[in-house]
Amino acid sequence: MNPDPALTQKDAGAESAQVVVIGGGPAGSTVSTLLADAGLRVVTFEREEFPRFHIGESLITETYWTFERLGVLDRLKKSDFPRKYSVQFISENGKASRPFYFFERDSHESSVTWQVDRAEFDGMLLDNAREKGADVRVGCSVRRVLFDESGERAVGAEWEDASGQRRTIHSDVVVDASGVHSVLARQLSILRRDPRLVKAAVYGHFEGAKRDSGIDEGATLIIHTRDNRGWFWYIPLSRDRVSIGVVGAVRELMRGGEKPEAVLMREIEESTSVKERLANARLCSSVHVTSDYTYRATRCAGAGYLLVGDAFGFLDPIYSSGVLLALKSGELAADTLVDAFAQNDFSAARLQSFGSQLSLGMEAFRKMVYAFYTPGFSFANFVSQHPEHRESLVRILIGDVFKSDTEDVFAAMSTMCDLPEPLSFLEESAPRD
Ligand code: FAD
Repeated sequence: MNPDPALTQKDAGAESAQVVVIGGGPAGSTVSTLLADAGLRVVTFEREEFPRFHIGESLITETYWTFERLGVLDRLKKSDFPRKYSVQFISENGKASRPFYFFERDSHESSVTWQVDRAEFDGMLLDNAREKGADVRVGCSVRRVLFDESGERAVGAEWEDASGQRRTIHSDVVVDASGVHSVLARQLSILRRDPRLVKAAVYGHFEGAKRDSGIDEGATLIIHTRDNRGWFWYIPLSRDRVSIGVVGAVRELMRGGEKPEAVLMREIEESTSVKERLANARLCSSVHVTSDYTYRATRCAGAGYLLVGDAFGFLDPIYSSGVLLALKSGELAADTLVDAFAQNDFSAARLQSFGSQLSLGMEAFRKMVYAFYTPGFSFANFVSQHPEHRESLVRILIGDVFKSDTEDVFAAMSTMCDLPEPLSFLEESAPRD
């Protein structure tokens, strides 16, 4: 095997860090904050200048505990992000369910969460990482992860600064938190798409849309499309904006080669519930498309590297689970790394140890996504047939998923829908060419 040319130079002047983090989204900020706070030398590369637009605005309540650990709860409480007390479902013929209020289950303040403007929210988390001591470099893109002569062990990264100059940094560990760009999983060819969930989302922001009053003002609405084959999210944001997106099968939603804005407007026009809420509203952003987005890497770590957040895997957004999974994977990875530094052991076996807990959470949401898209399946029916599992279901929906006690609820659900087999997160690393 040929040694990595960038490393044979082992530039005398090349800088080094204990940890290199690729990406300054929620996953990257979390891991950077916790590691810097633990006294490690962390360099975080973020290719965009902040603030930058990002989709993924509705949080779920279990994010509270990571915010508490990161020390950002006060900032969130002082923000003007709308408080999210509930989620409500509206059927294809406009029938609204009773809002599901999280505080009815538990009156602790963690039962109220936020609808966040991601430009501001991600900026807040990245600033916090910087304040805790991470060396955060925005406008700097990692081009590739560097490996040693064996091709197995990550030893640093090649990155490009804002002026386009390429440089090398050596590190004990590289954490890939580059989101859907999945720098490392693509480099290693370990990304697998889910052929059963080939969906697209088309979305934008509207100003002046109808909002409910009181504690319902910040509720997420999930509105089924008229043919019940897709769904809208309706997420109230600050400054009188509402985030609206429609999700459906790629081939149905994107038929006829229309522009994204035309697709979104066509779907809104066809939904009485959404149209009525937007009667006095105007589109105030560009319209974006994300498609074919359910995937997972076949391993969460190898010698000297870990994958967190969307860089490891992404699930359909129906349960607003993405930011929680990004925060939690960042937290689990950071704890694993603090241990690894204490033992001076960066082997694949040690670094992969955070995968079993992360996988419990991801697999629970993945099963819930499969159930949601099973024709004829409904959670209302499931609960009426299995009232004993109502509490477990609610716990999954708020994101309390990183424990191994969901087996019974999914065993019962599997008699009503086809649930997926668990995916591996520990595939042996194959030697690279
Ligand atoms: P990101 O937030 O994407 O951050 C990755 C960062 O890495 C980016 O800032 C990027 O610029 C940077 N980067 C990329 N490549 C490089 C490189 N080479 N070098 C340096 N930096 C790099 N989640 C929810 O919780 N609630 C929702 O309502 C929700 N709705 C969604 C709707 C849609 C349509 C989609 C697609 C996603 C949604 N999500 C939602 C998911 C959520 O957006 C993501 O799961 C979350 O942003 C993941 O965080 P992350 O830190 O892993 O990645």
